[in-house]
Amino acid sequence: MAETILIVEDEQDLAATLEYRLHKEGFETVTAPSGTAAIEALDRRPPPDLVLLDLMLPDLSGVEVCRHLRRAPDTAHIPVIMVTARADEIDRVVGFEVGADDYVCKPYSVRELILRVKAQLRRGRPAPREGGSISLGRLRVDPDAHRVWVDDEERILTALEFKLLHTFIERRGRVQSRESLLDEVWGITADVTTRTVDTHVKRLRQKLGPAGSYLETLRGVGYRFADAAP
Ligand code: CA
Repeated sequence: MAETILIVEDEQDLAATLEYRLHKEGFETVTAPSGTAAIEALDRRPPPDLVLLDLMLPDLSGVEVCRHLRRAPDTAHIPVIMVTARADEIDRVVGFEVGADDYVCKPYSVRELILRVKAQLRRGRPAPREGGSISLGRLRVDPDAHRVWVDDEERILTALEFKLLHTFIERRGRVQSRESLLDEVWGITADVTTRTVDTHVKRLRQKLGPAGSYLETLRGVGYRFADAAP
């Protein structure tokens, strides 16, 4: 069955373009021109599989819509891609405070947006496994044995580097703020700063060589694991 994308966008032309392109990619769409309409659409069952959420809406803001969605058990896990013209809002919308999974800045390329949509929908599925290991592009990871290969050549990681990589893989396609990585990898009580995260990501990237580019830096925001696919 086709996956349904809820497009929350008050610019009619842009909404129509998105509908057209998403239909061409085999998705179904529901369009909401305001925050109130978005909340009505989210309260219907079944809920959409993904939400493209404009931050600036005529009534409620995208932030309020996202909070509403995260509060309801049926919609809490739906991927949200926030669309914003304001780069200074990004760290807030993808952080703990609001909880969007990814973002694009206006003006954006529709092609890029569709790649993000597909990446978000993929993360709901288990990573492709071969025997006990996960294969993502040039990278192969055995989570039980804590072993990593790039192009079939083993790379030796520290326990912490492995945990960091595994966290990225589990949350692939999603923007990870430095603060959320600190909490998940180091633990909230650890006496380290966000600079530690940067140092470890840098080292991990070096160790992964050609697969290091899967760890994207998002300036002022954090990181995102984007494997070679699609
Ligand atoms: Ca708008």
